[in-house]
Amino acid sequence: MCKLCKKCGLEKELSKFHRDKTRVDGVYPQCKICVKEYGKEYRKTNIKKIRESKKEYRKTNVEKIKEHKKKYYKSNAEKIIDKTKEYRNSFALYNTFAHQISYAEEVRQDPENEQLLQVKCTYCKEWFNPTSQSVITRIMALEGKIKGELKFYCSNGCKKLCPIHWQKNILKIKNLMFRDLYKKSGLIW
Ligand SMILES: [Zn+2]
Ligand SMILES: [Zn+2]
Repeated sequence: MCKLCKKCGLEKELSKFHRDKTRVDGVYPQCKICVKEYGKEYRKTNIKKIRESKKEYRKTNVEKIKEHKKKYYKSNAEKIIDKTKEYRNSFALYNTFAHQISYAEEVRQDPENEQLLQVKCTYCKEWFNPTSQSVITRIMALEGKIKGELKFYCSNGCKKLCPIHWQKNILKIKNLMFRDLYKKSGLIW
């Protein structure tokens, strides 16, 4: 069965129209394409209006939105947690992270899979694929949002062996020693 679109005037199959139970023939008078075009046009010319009304909705429906989010989270909790875990343990993607750390780290695309990010191990200097989690924590450390440097290590073995990992502590000890010497000599403090 076909129907004439009120907007573009073309005869199209019923499946090309959105369903609308309030209409006699059960479908919308304009075809899906025309509805879509109208939506695009409307959004373009009414950006401000849409933004305002969304803002207004959020303001007057705080509880409702909270409730909705809670419900959504509850019924999808396992899925969300699994997804997050999976994401964090997965190898970091080059396009997502390279530009965020390239000022502090040597980065390259994995020669075997150019979508993946590779960095150099601070200790053995070998290229390896870091997890998204380790890149995120490194970025946060670089931005000073968490303590420590959290440099990249290809393995726990390298982390344990690496002198840089301990350098901070050694520096602290040295400072304390100097402070002690100065104190004794009466130069400062
Ligand atoms: Zn149409
Ligand atoms: Zn290493």
